[in-house]
Amino acid sequence: MANLDLWSNHSIQQFLAWIYGETALGDAGYDGILGVPGDNSCCRTLIRKFEEENALTVDGGLWGWECQQRACLLLTQGISLTDHFSSAEFGCGIAISEDDTPSLHSINCMHYPEVLNHTALRCLERTRQAIGSAIQITSGVRCPDYNASLSGSSSTSRHLLGRAFDCNTLGACSYEDLLEIGLQNGFTYGYVGDGFTHLQYDGSGY
Ligand SMILES: [Zn+2]
Ligand SMILES: [Zn+2]
Repeated sequence: MANLDLWSNHSIQQFLAWIYGETALGDAGYDGILGVPGDNSCCRTLIRKFEEENALTVDGGLWGWECQQRACLLLTQGISLTDHFSSAEFGCGIAISEDDTPSLHSINCMHYPEVLNHTALRCLERTRQAIGSAIQITSGVRCPDYNASLSGSSSTSRHLLGRAFDCNTLGACSYEDLLEIGLQNGFTYGYVGDGFTHLQYDGSGY
């Protein structure tokens, strides 16, 4: 069973952008630099704010398990990501039709082994708006062990990177139409699977 490490610095910044807005990262943006405790960079200021708001140790380190556990809990409970999607819909083992048996998951998965890519989410939101009705997520982000437990999955699946979604429109349109509309709205690849449409984004951007 894989033992996952902390999120990358870029992933931590993506999480901070979700809760405080992308502009809160300032001119530095997604630069991958968390800043040392006590400094006044935008990123460190946001981490400090997050620690204070959640009654965590403030400026105790760069970003530890205490922060990440809290972040994963908030994401699992549901943070609004776009006009129509909440993080509660995408977690590993908690999306519709998934199996949350603990033994299926990597150590430290905590439902959010990786942060969702903002650009991929924007593609999903645009697709949702183009269709004009709900999109149900049947599989979002996955940890390596959970991914491997699924028949036919690839060890390089973009689900591992928070860049792919298996979804349907609850009957509003066909899987084929959902694929076509997804590709028209920014997704770079997709296919129709057995009871779902897989949409993924491989382009640049966080
Ligand atoms: Zn997992
Ligand atoms: Zn998929």
